[in-house]
Amino acid sequence: MKVLVATEKPFAAAAVKGIKDIVEAAGHEFALLEKYTSEDELKAAAADADAMIVRSDKVTAGVLEAASRLKIVVRAGAGYDNLDLPACTARKVVAMNTPGQNSNAVAELAIAMMIFMSRGQFTPATGTEIMGRRLGIQAFGNVGRLVGAKAEALGMSVMAIDPFIPAEKIREAGAEPASDLKELYSSCDFVSVHIPATPETIGSIGYELITSMPKGATLVNTARKEVIDEAGLEKALEDRPDLKYVTDVAPSNIESLKEKFGTRVFATSKKMGAQTAEANINAGLAAARQIVDYFATGCTRFQLNR
Ligand code: NAD
Repeated sequence: MKVLVATEKPFAAAAVKGIKDIVEAAGHEFALLEKYTSEDELKAAAADADAMIVRSDKVTAGVLEAASRLKIVVRAGAGYDNLDLPACTARKVVAMNTPGQNSNAVAELAIAMMIFMSRGQFTPATGTEIMGRRLGIQAFGNVGRLVGAKAEALGMSVMAIDPFIPAEKIREAGAEPASDLKELYSSCDFVSVHIPATPETIGSIGYELITSMPKGATLVNTARKEVIDEAGLEKALEDRPDLKYVTDVAPSNIESLKEKFGTRVFATSKKMGAQTAEANINAGLAAARQIVDYFATGCTRFQLNR
Protein backbone atom coordinates (compact mmCIF):
# COMPACT_ATOMS: atom_id res chain seq x y z
CA MET A 1 0.00 0.00 0.00
CA LYS A 2 1.22 3.52 -0.72
CA VAL A 3 1.06 5.89 2.25
CA LEU A 4 1.30 9.57 1.34
CA VAL A 5 2.21 12.24 3.88
CA ALA A 6 0.72 15.43 2.40
CA THR A 7 1.51 18.51 4.46
CA GLU A 8 1.40 22.07 3.22
CA LYS A 9 2.98 22.96 6.58
CA PRO A 10 5.57 20.19 7.04
CA PHE A 11 6.05 18.00 10.11
CA ALA A 12 9.35 18.26 11.97
CA ALA A 13 12.04 16.20 10.19
CA ALA A 14 12.17 13.68 13.06
CA ALA A 15 8.43 13.07 12.71
CA VAL A 16 8.75 12.44 8.95
CA LYS A 17 11.58 9.96 9.56
CA GLY A 18 9.56 8.18 12.26
CA ILE A 19 6.48 7.92 10.00
CA LYS A 20 8.60 6.59 7.12
CA ASP A 21 10.19 3.98 9.41
CA ILE A 22 6.80 2.75 10.69
CA VAL A 23 5.26 2.61 7.21
CA GLU A 24 8.22 0.82 5.61
CA ALA A 25 8.71 -1.60 8.51
CA ALA A 26 5.12 -2.75 7.88
CA GLY A 27 5.95 -3.38 4.21
CA HIS A 28 4.21 -0.33 2.76
CA GLU A 29 5.52 2.33 0.39
CA PHE A 30 6.15 5.84 1.76
CA ALA A 31 5.63 9.05 -0.24
CA LEU A 32 6.00 12.68 0.81
CA LEU A 33 4.48 15.92 -0.47
CA GLU A 34 5.45 19.03 1.50
CA LYS A 35 4.88 22.77 1.09
CA TYR A 36 2.58 22.30 -1.89
CA THR A 37 0.98 25.46 -3.20
CA SER A 38 -2.21 24.31 -4.93
CA GLU A 39 -4.96 21.74 -4.55
CA ASP A 40 -3.98 20.40 -7.98
CA GLU A 41 -0.56 19.47 -6.63
CA LEU A 42 -2.23 17.63 -3.76
CA LYS A 43 -4.62 15.87 -6.13
CA ALA A 44 -1.75 14.71 -8.37
CA ALA A 45 0.21 13.32 -5.42
CA ALA A 46 -2.88 11.63 -3.96
CA ALA A 47 -3.90 9.98 -7.26
CA ASP A 48 -2.20 6.64 -6.47
CA ALA A 49 -2.20 6.79 -2.66
CA ASP A 50 -3.95 4.09 -0.64
CA ALA A 51 -3.59 6.03 2.61
CA MET A 52 -2.92 9.64 3.43
CA ILE A 53 -1.66 11.50 6.48
CA VAL A 54 -2.48 15.22 6.61
CA ARG A 55 -2.24 18.06 9.13
CA SER A 56 -4.47 21.11 8.57
CA ASP A 57 -4.58 20.28 4.84
CA LYS A 58 -8.03 20.46 3.29
CA VAL A 59 -9.28 17.07 2.16
CA THR A 60 -12.17 18.18 -0.04
CA ALA A 61 -14.60 16.18 -2.16
CA GLY A 62 -12.39 17.12 -5.15
CA VAL A 63 -9.24 15.75 -3.51
CA LEU A 64 -11.09 12.55 -2.60
CA GLU A 65 -12.32 12.16 -6.15
CA ALA A 66 -8.75 12.50 -7.48
CA ALA A 67 -7.50 10.01 -4.87
CA SER A 68 -9.42 7.13 -6.40
CA ARG A 69 -7.43 4.40 -4.56
CA LEU A 70 -7.68 6.04 -1.15
CA LYS A 71 -8.92 3.80 1.66
CA ILE A 72 -7.98 5.80 4.74
CA VAL A 73 -7.09 9.39 5.59
CA VAL A 74 -5.71 10.35 9.00
CA ARG A 75 -5.63 13.90 10.28
CA ALA A 76 -2.52 14.03 12.51
CA GLY A 77 -4.10 16.22 15.17
CA ALA A 78 -7.33 16.74 17.07
CA GLY A 79 -9.58 19.14 15.13
CA TYR A 80 -10.82 17.59 11.89
CA ASP A 81 -12.86 20.40 10.35
CA ASN A 82 -10.44 20.21 7.37
CA LEU A 83 -11.77 16.76 6.39
CA ASP A 84 -14.97 16.54 4.34
CA LEU A 85 -16.44 13.65 6.33
CA PRO A 86 -19.63 13.15 4.26
CA ALA A 87 -17.46 12.98 1.11
CA CYS A 88 -15.14 10.45 2.84
CA THR A 89 -18.18 8.33 3.73
CA ALA A 90 -19.61 8.60 0.22
CA ARG A 91 -16.31 7.31 -1.22
CA LYS A 92 -15.95 4.65 1.52
CA VAL A 93 -12.79 6.27 2.83
CA VAL A 94 -12.16 5.77 6.55
CA ALA A 95 -11.35 9.12 8.21
CA MET A 96 -9.51 9.30 11.53
CA ASN A 97 -7.84 11.85 13.79
CA THR A 98 -5.21 11.28 16.48
CA PRO A 99 -6.90 12.61 19.65
CA GLY A 100 -4.73 13.65 22.58
CA GLN A 101 -1.41 13.52 20.76
CA ASN A 102 -0.83 17.27 20.55
CA SER A 103 -2.85 18.36 23.58
CA ASN A 104 0.08 19.23 25.81
CA ALA A 105 1.57 21.57 23.21
CA VAL A 106 -1.74 23.43 22.88
CA ALA A 107 -2.27 23.53 26.64
CA GLU A 108 1.20 25.01 27.19
CA LEU A 109 0.44 27.68 24.58
CA ALA A 110 -2.86 28.59 26.28
CA ILE A 111 -1.04 29.06 29.61
CA ALA A 112 1.75 31.03 27.90
CA MET A 113 -0.84 33.28 26.26
CA MET A 114 -2.44 34.10 29.61
CA ILE A 115 0.90 35.12 31.11
CA PHE A 116 1.90 37.01 27.94
CA MET A 117 -1.27 39.12 28.06
CA SER A 118 -1.08 39.63 31.84
CA ARG A 119 2.43 41.03 31.39
CA GLY A 120 1.50 43.49 28.65
CA GLN A 121 2.88 41.31 25.84
CA PHE A 122 6.28 41.33 27.58
CA THR A 123 6.62 45.11 27.65
CA PRO A 124 8.08 46.73 30.79
CA ALA A 125 4.72 48.20 31.87
CA THR A 126 3.36 46.98 35.21
CA GLY A 127 1.47 43.77 34.64
CA THR A 128 -0.59 41.39 36.74
CA GLU A 129 -0.10 37.80 37.91
CA ILE A 130 -2.25 34.82 37.06
CA MET A 131 -1.92 33.22 40.52
CA GLY A 132 -5.17 33.63 42.42
CA ARG A 133 -7.19 34.42 39.29
CA ARG A 134 -10.12 32.37 38.11
CA LEU A 135 -9.87 30.45 34.84
CA GLY A 136 -12.93 29.22 32.95
CA ILE A 137 -12.44 26.31 30.56
CA GLN A 138 -14.96 26.00 27.75
CA ALA A 139 -14.92 22.29 26.73
CA PHE A 140 -13.14 19.88 29.02
CA GLY A 141 -11.61 17.55 26.44
CA ASN A 142 -7.97 16.55 26.03
CA VAL A 143 -6.64 20.11 25.83
CA GLY A 144 -9.11 21.67 28.28
CA ARG A 145 -8.30 19.15 31.02
CA LEU A 146 -4.55 19.72 30.65
CA VAL A 147 -4.99 23.51 30.75
CA GLY A 148 -7.01 23.06 33.94
CA ALA A 149 -4.35 20.93 35.64
CA LYS A 150 -1.53 23.28 34.68
CA ALA A 151 -3.50 26.36 35.76
CA GLU A 152 -4.29 24.79 39.12
CA ALA A 153 -0.59 24.08 39.64
CA LEU A 154 0.06 27.78 38.97
CA GLY A 155 -2.37 28.76 41.74
CA MET A 156 -5.43 29.59 39.64
CA SER A 157 -8.91 28.38 40.53
CA VAL A 158 -10.51 26.51 37.68
CA MET A 159 -14.11 26.33 36.51
CA ALA A 160 -15.16 24.29 33.48
CA ILE A 161 -18.11 23.38 31.31
CA ASP A 162 -18.63 20.68 28.71
CA PRO A 163 -22.07 19.57 27.52
CA PHE A 164 -20.84 16.01 27.03
CA ILE A 165 -19.00 15.55 30.33
CA PRO A 166 -20.97 15.11 33.57
CA ALA A 167 -20.38 17.64 36.37
CA GLU A 168 -18.97 14.96 38.72
CA LYS A 169 -16.24 14.07 36.19
CA ILE A 170 -15.27 17.75 35.99
CA ARG A 171 -15.19 17.91 39.81
CA GLU A 172 -13.10 14.69 39.99
CA ALA A 173 -10.55 16.39 37.70
CA GLY A 174 -10.22 19.25 40.20
CA ALA A 175 -12.36 21.88 38.49
CA GLU A 176 -15.64 23.43 39.57
CA PRO A 177 -18.43 22.69 37.06
CA ALA A 178 -20.20 25.78 35.71
CA SER A 179 -23.96 25.53 35.44
CA ASP A 180 -24.00 27.29 32.08
CA LEU A 181 -21.83 29.37 29.73
CA LYS A 182 -23.13 32.59 31.24
CA GLU A 183 -21.83 31.55 34.67
CA LEU A 184 -18.46 30.54 33.20
CA TYR A 185 -17.96 33.83 31.33
CA SER A 186 -19.35 36.13 34.01
CA SER A 187 -17.27 34.72 36.84
CA CYS A 188 -13.86 34.08 35.27
CA ASP A 189 -10.88 36.42 34.79
CA PHE A 190 -9.71 34.24 31.89
CA VAL A 191 -11.81 32.03 29.65
CA SER A 192 -9.87 29.49 27.59
CA VAL A 193 -11.82 28.14 24.61
CA HIS A 194 -11.43 24.47 23.60
CA ILE A 195 -14.62 23.65 21.68
CA PRO A 196 -14.38 22.02 18.26
CA ALA A 197 -15.57 23.98 15.20
CA THR A 198 -18.93 22.42 14.34
CA PRO A 199 -22.15 23.84 12.88
CA GLU A 200 -23.37 24.34 16.49
CA THR A 201 -20.24 26.10 17.75
CA ILE A 202 -19.26 28.29 14.77
CA GLY A 203 -19.84 31.95 15.65
CA SER A 204 -21.21 30.92 19.06
CA ILE A 205 -18.97 33.17 21.20
CA GLY A 206 -20.10 36.73 20.65
CA TYR A 207 -20.88 40.11 22.16
CA GLU A 208 -23.16 38.95 24.95
CA LEU A 209 -20.85 36.31 26.40
CA ILE A 210 -17.70 38.40 25.98
CA THR A 211 -19.16 41.51 27.61
CA SER A 212 -20.42 39.43 30.53
CA MET A 213 -16.79 38.82 31.57
CA PRO A 214 -15.56 40.61 34.71
CA LYS A 215 -13.43 43.75 34.63
CA GLY A 216 -9.97 43.22 33.14
CA ALA A 217 -10.77 39.73 31.80
CA THR A 218 -9.00 37.99 28.91
CA LEU A 219 -10.49 35.62 26.35
CA VAL A 220 -7.98 32.99 25.16
CA ASN A 221 -8.70 31.04 21.99
CA THR A 222 -6.51 28.13 20.96
CA ALA A 223 -9.45 26.30 19.34
CA ARG A 224 -10.54 27.65 15.95
CA LYS A 225 -11.06 31.25 14.84
CA GLU A 226 -14.46 30.28 13.40
CA VAL A 227 -16.02 29.71 16.84
CA ILE A 228 -15.81 33.46 17.54
CA ASP A 229 -18.38 35.89 16.17
CA GLU A 230 -15.77 38.39 14.98
CA ALA A 231 -18.08 41.40 14.67
CA GLY A 232 -19.40 40.71 18.19
CA LEU A 233 -15.83 40.45 19.50
CA GLU A 234 -14.85 43.76 17.90
CA LYS A 235 -17.87 45.54 19.37
CA ALA A 236 -17.25 43.97 22.79
CA LEU A 237 -13.64 45.23 22.79
CA GLU A 238 -14.89 48.67 21.75
CA ASP A 239 -17.54 48.88 24.49
CA ARG A 240 -15.32 47.33 27.18
CA PRO A 241 -11.84 48.92 27.10
CA ASP A 242 -10.73 46.64 29.96
CA LEU A 243 -11.13 43.36 28.02
CA LYS A 244 -8.40 41.51 26.08
CA TYR A 245 -8.34 38.84 23.39
CA VAL A 246 -5.51 36.46 22.54
CA THR A 247 -5.75 33.80 19.87
CA ASP A 248 -3.83 31.12 18.02
CA VAL A 249 -4.50 32.21 14.46
CA ALA A 250 -5.66 35.63 13.43
CA PRO A 251 -9.32 36.48 13.04
CA SER A 252 -10.21 37.95 9.64
CA ASN A 253 -10.63 41.40 11.23
CA ILE A 254 -7.18 41.33 12.90
CA GLU A 255 -5.89 44.51 11.20
CA SER A 256 -8.89 46.46 12.45
CA LEU A 257 -8.55 44.94 15.94
CA LYS A 258 -4.82 45.75 16.16
CA GLU A 259 -5.36 49.29 14.95
CA LYS A 260 -8.17 49.95 17.40
CA PHE A 261 -7.02 47.98 20.44
CA GLY A 262 -3.19 47.71 20.25
CA THR A 263 -1.75 45.39 22.89
CA ARG A 264 -5.19 44.40 24.17
CA VAL A 265 -5.25 41.97 21.23
CA PHE A 266 -2.70 39.41 20.10
CA ALA A 267 -2.91 36.79 17.35
CA THR A 268 -0.25 34.33 16.22
CA SER A 269 0.60 34.89 12.57
CA LYS A 270 0.27 31.18 11.74
CA LYS A 271 -1.50 28.51 13.82
CA MET A 272 1.19 27.25 16.19
CA GLY A 273 -0.60 25.47 19.05
CA ALA A 274 0.50 22.02 17.97
CA GLN A 275 3.74 23.21 16.40
CA THR A 276 6.23 21.58 18.76
CA ALA A 277 8.67 18.81 17.89
CA GLU A 278 7.01 16.60 20.50
CA ALA A 279 3.47 17.13 19.20
CA ASN A 280 4.57 16.64 15.59
CA ILE A 281 6.24 13.38 16.49
CA ASN A 282 3.40 12.13 18.72
CA ALA A 283 0.64 12.94 16.21
CA GLY A 284 2.61 11.89 13.10
CA LEU A 285 3.69 8.54 14.55
CA ALA A 286 0.19 7.86 15.91
CA ALA A 287 -1.24 8.53 12.43
CA ALA A 288 1.26 6.12 10.85
CA ARG A 289 0.51 3.43 13.45
CA GLN A 290 -3.25 3.83 12.96
CA ILE A 291 -2.83 3.31 9.20
CA VAL A 292 -0.58 0.28 9.63
CA ASP A 293 -3.06 -1.20 12.17
CA TYR A 294 -5.99 -0.51 9.88
CA PHE A 295 -4.38 -2.38 6.98
CA ALA A 296 -3.16 -5.20 9.25
CA THR A 297 -6.22 -5.78 11.45
CA GLY A 298 -9.03 -3.49 10.25
CA CYS A 299 -8.78 -1.52 13.52
CA THR A 300 -11.04 1.57 13.31
CA ARG A 301 -10.74 2.81 16.92
CA PHE A 302 -10.31 6.47 15.97
CA GLN A 303 -12.67 6.48 12.98
CA LEU A 304 -14.67 9.72 12.72
CA ASN A 305 -17.17 8.79 9.98
CA ARG A 306 -18.96 5.72 11.27
P1 NAD B 1 -11.27 16.89 22.29
O1 NAD B 1 -12.08 16.24 21.24
O2 NAD B 1 -10.45 16.08 23.20
O3 NAD B 1 -12.22 17.80 23.21
C1 NAD B 1 -13.23 18.59 22.70
C2 NAD B 1 -14.29 18.74 23.78
O4 NAD B 1 -15.31 19.57 23.25
C3 NAD B 1 -14.95 17.42 24.19
O5 NAD B 1 -14.81 17.22 25.58
C4 NAD B 1 -16.40 17.59 23.77
O6 NAD B 1 -17.29 17.03 24.74
C5 NAD B 1 -16.55 19.08 23.70
N1 NAD B 1 -17.58 19.47 22.73
C6 NAD B 1 -17.94 18.83 21.61
N2 NAD B 1 -18.94 19.49 20.98
C7 NAD B 1 -19.20 20.57 21.74
C8 NAD B 1 -20.13 21.62 21.64
N3 NAD B 1 -21.01 21.68 20.63
N4 NAD B 1 -20.11 22.59 22.60
C9 NAD B 1 -19.21 22.53 23.62
N5 NAD B 1 -18.32 21.53 23.77
C10 NAD B 1 -18.31 20.58 22.85
O7 NAD B 1 -10.39 17.96 21.50
P2 NAD B 1 -9.08 18.69 22.05
O8 NAD B 1 -7.90 17.89 21.71
O9 NAD B 1 -9.29 19.10 23.46
O10 NAD B 1 -9.06 19.98 21.10
C11 NAD B 1 -10.10 20.95 21.20
C12 NAD B 1 -10.09 21.80 19.96
O11 NAD B 1 -8.88 22.55 19.94
C13 NAD B 1 -10.07 20.99 18.65
O12 NAD B 1 -11.37 20.70 18.17
C14 NAD B 1 -9.34 21.90 17.70
O13 NAD B 1 -10.26 22.72 17.01
C15 NAD B 1 -8.50 22.78 18.61
N6 NAD B 1 -7.07 22.48 18.48
C16 NAD B 1 -6.26 23.51 18.11
C17 NAD B 1 -4.90 23.27 17.97
C18 NAD B 1 -3.99 24.40 17.62
O14 NAD B 1 -2.98 24.15 16.98
N7 NAD B 1 -4.27 25.60 18.03
C19 NAD B 1 -4.39 21.98 18.16
C20 NAD B 1 -5.24 20.98 18.60
C21 NAD B 1 -6.59 21.24 18.75
